Amino acid sequence: MAAIRPVLREWVECRHRAPNYHLTQMLTGHGCFGVYLCGVVKREPTADCHHCGTGEVDTAQHTREACPAWAEQRAAVSSVLGTDLSLPVMAAAMADREEVWKAVSSFSVEVMTLKEAAERARKDAVDSLPIRRWRPGRRRRAHLVALDRAPP
Ligand SMILES: [Zn+2]
Repeated sequence: MAAIRPVLREWVECRHRAPNYHLTQMLTGHGCFGVYLCGVVKREPTADCHHCGTGEVDTAQHTREACPAWAEQRAAVSSVLGTDLSLPVMAAAMADREEVWKAVSSFSVEVMTLKEAAERARKDAVDSLPIRRWRPGRRRRAHLVALDRAPP
């Protein structure tokens, strides 16, 4: 996170490359990940990944680099970036190469949209746990607070 902050600020200040909501989640880990939902916003009983059944903890890194559920989406990123999808390598390549930026951005939108849909389905399930029922806007506010920004 410390390594990514200066790069993120640079992006935020550059209109062409302002990171969207999903890309920001993927780069910061503040969003629809088990560790965040369980540990920060307290909306999941565990941090386990719901998407692969490997028993791995659901982190941004697990999502980007390892989760078998996103192999197809990851392959599109690897086709332009290579197999090292670690954050420093990814961030540096995104800053340098438009095609990498676009690939990671698409990966983030697609995967995070699916993760959010799954989260909604868990919330809306008839046997949904009380911890999963949240008020509208809570995620957005938590996200902005996590990014040190005042909520609107
Ligand atoms: Zn997984």
